[in-house]
Amino acid sequence: MPEHFDVVIVGTGAGGGTLAHTLAPSGKRILLLERGDYLPREMENWDPGPVSVDGRYISADTWHDADGRAFQPQVHYFVGGATKLYGAALYRLRPQDFDELKHVDGVSPAWPLSYDDFEPYYTKAEWLYQVHGEHGADPTEGAWSKQYPWPAVSHEPRIQQLVDDMRAGGYHPFPAPCGILLDEAERARSTCIRCTWCDGYPCLVHAKSDAETIAVRPALASPNVTMLVNAEVVRLDTDASGRSVSTVVVSRAGNREEYTGDIVVVAAGAANSARILLRSAGDRHPKGLANGSDQVGRNYMFHNSKAVVALSKEPNDTTFQKTLGLNDFYLGAGDYDWPIGNIQMVGKSNAEAMKGEEPKLTKLAPKWSLAETARHAVDFWLTTEDLPLPDNRVTLGADGNVKLTYTSSNDEEADRLYHELKKLLNHVGIAQHHVLGKNFYMHMSIPVAGCAHQAGTCRFGDDPTTSVLDANCKAHELDNLYVVDTSFFPSIGAVNPALTAIANAIRVGEHLLERL
Ligand SMILES: Cc1cc2nc3c(=O)[nH]c(=O)nc-3n(C[C@H](O)[C@H](O)[C@H](O)COP(=O)(O)OP(=O)(O)OC[C@H]3O[C@@H](n4cnc5c(N)ncnc54)[C@H](O)[C@@H]3O)c2cc1C
Repeated sequence: MPEHFDVVIVGTGAGGGTLAHTLAPSGKRILLLERGDYLPREMENWDPGPVSVDGRYISADTWHDADGRAFQPQVHYFVGGATKLYGAALYRLRPQDFDELKHVDGVSPAWPLSYDDFEPYYTKAEWLYQVHGEHGADPTEGAWSKQYPWPAVSHEPRIQQLVDDMRAGGYHPFPAPCGILLDEAERARSTCIRCTWCDGYPCLVHAKSDAETIAVRPALASPNVTMLVNAEVVRLDTDASGRSVSTVVVSRAGNREEYTGDIVVVAAGAANSARILLRSAGDRHPKGLANGSDQVGRNYMFHNSKAVVALSKEPNDTTFQKTLGLNDFYLGAGDYDWPIGNIQMVGKSNAEAMKGEEPKLTKLAPKWSLAETARHAVDFWLTTEDLPLPDNRVTLGADGNVKLTYTSSNDEEADRLYHELKKLLNHVGIAQHHVLGKNFYMHMSIPVAGCAHQAGTCRFGDDPTTSVLDANCKAHELDNLYVVDTSFFPSIGAVNPALTAIANAIRVGEHLLERL
């Protein structure tokens, strides 16, 4: 007989890990099934060679694009999921993101719930994930009921200068919300040493508010919570009526295992959650589980993003660079009526990472010149919303793995955002290259393999013909199946997705506590 649990959760990232944390105090028997293992704590965590050049923590998975070309997706199979590598920039969506919003290439649809419905869960998420920030500083943010638990992380001198210059130029920079375990008033109590290795690197000292540190480990302290690692869920079977998931089928150490749960939650990340449901096709669900509407896997989004490096005349000796955000162009710019997105800083670039990310451009550059270039680099991340297009979708390839069909949208908005950044940099005098004496930027649009912000493949909604999940993230077509990761997003907005996934996991968790 398969072992039975009250709740089986597939995946331990922002969605699954936070859900387990919410349910743990109930005393109900909870099983976490995680495809990966614990991410090893080793010196390589903080070494750009292994991390950025060799891709040491990127899964060995092979996915295919619409033309059948194989690529290695930037996904991370570990306890804590993608949050083990994330930059912990924990933004709320804007209230307008929950409403219908018109873009140059089409409409970003309304959510079945409003910003006000989400607000209490955003607050709980910010307190659970120890977010540093300053509500009230960003003119575009929605109402908030409680200040962040920690004051904003202080800017280092070069970034403070940038903030001052922006303000003098009439811009409205604000302190970016950061999920790190830092106590600047009493450094001795900090786990965080305020290093440069936050964005895109695992934290060796567990000072980043990732799902393993904040949610999974504390949940496992409850005797009613069990986790199996290296346990890949391969399919979900239903009972004869097709209304309930009866068996969770797992591949662990080459063996097939089965588990049962009163409630089954899929939180494997947007692409893999769709994959699991599509692979679970059966007599009652011939197109895949919960897929009578043919919506599972569709509406895949991952942001229209650009990484931009500006080389300034003065050196930039910042270590923790991610303290500044700018939403002045979130809903438009000057004569341009369409929303265009968010500007924030990314982790400080270094010579090794530049080589990894731009192998062609940097191939002939001597090491000293790359190091010098990196020293003068000021690094930005530009995010424009991409639209939930039905033909942008996850399907199953011939090998049973993910096939990702994706065409970008809102490219004009993304280009406009880049244009606004260049204007701003001219304004604040950062655009002069220290050697060339003229404007110099390196910029890179993020390719389909850079699926860090993947979302939307099982969207929630009131209409079962156009959505997979109801407002509680329960599958319309099943009584005990939930999806609680970024899959549920009907649109993605133009800020980083993790806080919304975390807030939603707490929201659904509280619903499940009532149901249980
Ligand atoms: C480099 C990087 C930087 C980022 N920076 C930010 C940031 O600064 N701010 C932000 O908001 N977001 C950021 N993100 C995105 C953020 O990490 C994700 O949006 C978030 O983690 C998504 O949560 P999730 O629960 O949907 O999926 P995940 O966190 O990826 O969790 C999915 C889990 O499911 C497991 N799994 C997959 N398939 C199976 C299976 N078949 N069986 C069992 N388990 C399975 C995976 O191993 C994983 O643990 C970043 C991501 C990356 C990669």
